[in-house]
Amino acid sequence: MRVNTLKRVAVAFALALPGAAIATVVAAPAAHADGCYTWNRTLTQGRSGNDVRQLQIRIAGWAGYRDIVENDGRYGPKTAAAVKRFQQAYGLRADGIAGPQTFGKLYQLQDNDCTPAHFSYSELDNGCGESGWSGGPLSASQTKQNALRTMWKLEALRKSLGDKPLYVSSGFRSRACNNQVGGASDSQHLYGNAADVVSRTSSLCQVARNARNNGFSGIYGPGYPDHDDHVHVDSRRENNNDRSSNTTSWSAPDCGVGN
Ligand SMILES: [Zn+2]
Repeated sequence: MRVNTLKRVAVAFALALPGAAIATVVAAPAAHADGCYTWNRTLTQGRSGNDVRQLQIRIAGWAGYRDIVENDGRYGPKTAAAVKRFQQAYGLRADGIAGPQTFGKLYQLQDNDCTPAHFSYSELDNGCGESGWSGGPLSASQTKQNALRTMWKLEALRKSLGDKPLYVSSGFRSRACNNQVGGASDSQHLYGNAADVVSRTSSLCQVARNARNNGFSGIYGPGYPDHDDHVHVDSRRENNNDRSSNTTSWSAPDCGVGN
């Protein structure tokens, strides 16, 4: 984690300006469009399409305990339940239907590059003092897409922890970077599917416990070897390109978190 400390500080500065810009956009009334993506119809169970897929990326962190919302473009019961949890969390009418209120909140939450308000590509991209999305087993664009989904889950985790800052100490790692930091050979970090996080306001155990509700099928924290100073979260269950089976793997023995 040492190698990323400097980068984290740099990111904090870099975030200061975009943050101010977002506040301005949010204050403007009736802004129903967005620089990243605009939904053009109300979505309910039974709908399908790219607009559903775009919604699923953004509400994947509200999957509920030990569950995931598949990014399949089909609005099924799990998508509806996740939308409902999202609505509850943000004080909207919780009906599980994605209409103007839900989309309005998502527009408020997302930046023009589609990342959620409190996380950025630069915070998640190649560690070890470098940037970019290449050098892993997937194409750079696939890796970046995975990182986007990771960030939306992190946004939900952050919200569940009282909307207090959550810091990413390691996101995507190229193979070279992963070797350098001694990461596992088929680490989810290689795929843009993982983040190591720390908090100044919540205990690591609180982070690990909450993450169980945010679509993270991989969680390692206090009590698991080399994870006493951060919590690792990932989406291994949704990764069809790695060598692991698509199952849940949780271990933070000091926190009562296990499979
Ligand atoms: Zn990790």
